[in-house]
Amino acid sequence: MIKIRGLNKRYGDFDALKGIDLDVARGEFLVVLGPSGAGKSTLLRCINRLAEPTSGEVHIDGQLAQPSGASLRALRRQVAMIFQHYNVVPRLSVQKNVLTGRMGSLPSLLSWLQFFPRKDVDIARECLRRVELQDKAELRTDTLSGGQKQRVGIARALAQQPKVILADEPVASLDPKTSRTVLNYLKQASRELGITVVCNLHQIDYAREFGERIVGVSGGRIVYDGGPEGLTDEV
Ligand code: ADP
Ligand code: ADP
Repeated sequence: MIKIRGLNKRYGDFDALKGIDLDVARGEFLVVLGPSGAGKSTLLRCINRLAEPTSGEVHIDGQLAQPSGASLRALRRQVAMIFQHYNVVPRLSVQKNVLTGRMGSLPSLLSWLQFFPRKDVDIARECLRRVELQDKAELRTDTLSGGQKQRVGIARALAQQPKVILADEPVASLDPKTSRTVLNYLKQASRELGITVVCNLHQIDYAREFGERIVGVSGGRIVYDGGPEGLTDEV
């Protein structure tokens, strides 16, 4: 589903990614593990073109990712993002936040949100059920806890009906119990819907617990690629 070859990303004279080669299969739940500054976030942003690679190629479902135009819009539709700080719209209801996953561009989005088609509401409701927030649909999102906001983030990503979900440190701001709940919902999405999930984490304990395959990143390079059993604290 994701094929990365010779990916380099340079900021000024600093190499954040150094020759990344990576294949992620359809439906795989991949954990990218590494300390802060390792390049995990840059890797995700190069996959969905929030950052432009300095060199190298990224293919999504056999298509070479392009920096602009129609193919970039197609890429962004296929690849959903989940962020550390949730990036929900605080004053909108939970359901409207999830509905934003059904739309691409912001100006038309605001008017569209007044008159959303029935079909999109049904999809949003179903996604809220997946993260067990159906009872909160009409609440303003800023009344929710951090863990609930992140579940809204997951529901919004699911509402996009993507092939790939990229989660950038989705539990870095959450306590351990809430983190496990959120990671379970993400894992379920890949298992039950066949979505390819790449999840950045910096905590080795969660990587061991949730990772089927773990890619360790350090200093812009892949330093480990395997199951949880081979992870040592040095990775
Ligand atoms: P991680 O997600 O593993 O914490 P990042 O990908 O955010 O790592 O960052 C990797 C390195 O690249 C860090 O040293 C960071 O400071 C640097 N970096 C990230 N984004 C930029 C940027 N826009 N400009 C300059 N340096 C950046
Ligand atoms: P996170 O740790 O949540 O992944 P960061 O705090 O590393 O995010 O980065 C937040 C934003 O700042 C990103 O857009 C990143 O590109 C940018 N950034 C990170 N490090 C640097 C840097 N050294 N110089 C310039 N911009 C940076």
